[in-house]
Amino acid sequence: MIITVEEASKALLEGEVVALPTETVYGLAAKFDNEKAVREIFSLKKRPQDNPLIVHIANLEELKRFVFPLDQETLSLAKAFWPGPLTIILKVDTTLVPSLVRAGLKTVAFRVPNHEQTLEVIRQVGPLVMPSANLSGRPSSTAPSHVEQDFGSHVPVVDGGCCSKGVESTVIVKDKDNWKIARQGFLSKEQIEEVLQKPVESFERDGKVISPGTKYKHYAPKATLRSLSELSDTRGKVILGFRERVYKNTKKTYFFSSVNDPEGICQSLYNILRQLDHEHVKEAYVDMDFPKNGLYQTIYERLLKASHNEKNQNVKHLVKGVESNV
Ligand code: AMP
Ligand code: MG
Repeated sequence: MIITVEEASKALLEGEVVALPTETVYGLAAKFDNEKAVREIFSLKKRPQDNPLIVHIANLEELKRFVFPLDQETLSLAKAFWPGPLTIILKVDTTLVPSLVRAGLKTVAFRVPNHEQTLEVIRQVGPLVMPSANLSGRPSSTAPSHVEQDFGSHVPVVDGGCCSKGVESTVIVKDKDNWKIARQGFLSKEQIEEVLQKPVESFERDGKVISPGTKYKHYAPKATLRSLSELSDTRGKVILGFRERVYKNTKKTYFFSSVNDPEGICQSLYNILRQLDHEHVKEAYVDMDFPKNGLYQTIYERLLKASHNEKNQNVKHLVKGVESNV
């Protein structure tokens, strides 16, 4: 059910849950301090309660209400990337944020989304928790129709069109003096390093999970996804690939975009994974032959997670390093 920004604000203030657009993916929103509404989000998404939620704020000033003083590097990152696809995990005064939001941790993840309609809602309502608007483990939603596929037409959605980025934010955390990426996302490690002027670690070296959400199966369609490199002949197969490449005699080919356009690939990624379900595809082969640096690394990680299920461990071994935080 499509609703206006004003209707969304009113519903949120009354303790309801609504779906809102962001530049990354659609989110399922509730007032961060309304425990009943926050609980409803976990229940609607079937999200494990040990997976904390990101608190979305309207601007950097609002962060100071939760965390003060802010260290210089946090300030530099926020100034460089907010509003935008960067989520920063920070130690907070735990009395200010319900335990359910933090999943009992002493930290909270914060982000300023870059979408005018949603920023307006946050200005009217205050900080919102807003995990991706999909059933846990399924591909995220990048259009209002995706939200409806997962939650039904009665769930209120503000229509902000298709998400301009199409994959989730990058989640980072400072551990002593070092920044670490807790979840890969639209912002690349290289972009963050450029602002900090120092190296950022991709994952915990000892394989410890920093971001609870990364340990779960994620972004997965019902179809079994395999790597195209396993195939000698594409005849009669369903292929996910790139516009300029020729895949002969396939049953059907879904094109992400050009292989040289990682941003375009992100924009179509979840839509294509969802299309597989819609068209009852049982098995598909993904062309994984693309660079693995910058934004491509996130795309690769999403495809690995999407293809990771009990029936298929085959794609997993392709690049060990990328999987080390699962
Ligand atoms: P999503 O549910 O798609 O919005 O993803 C949010 C991600 O941020 C998940 O992987 C969460 O586990 C992670 N996250 C949120 N808050 C924290 C926190 N305080 N510490 C570590 N990871 C967090
Ligand atoms: Mg999610």
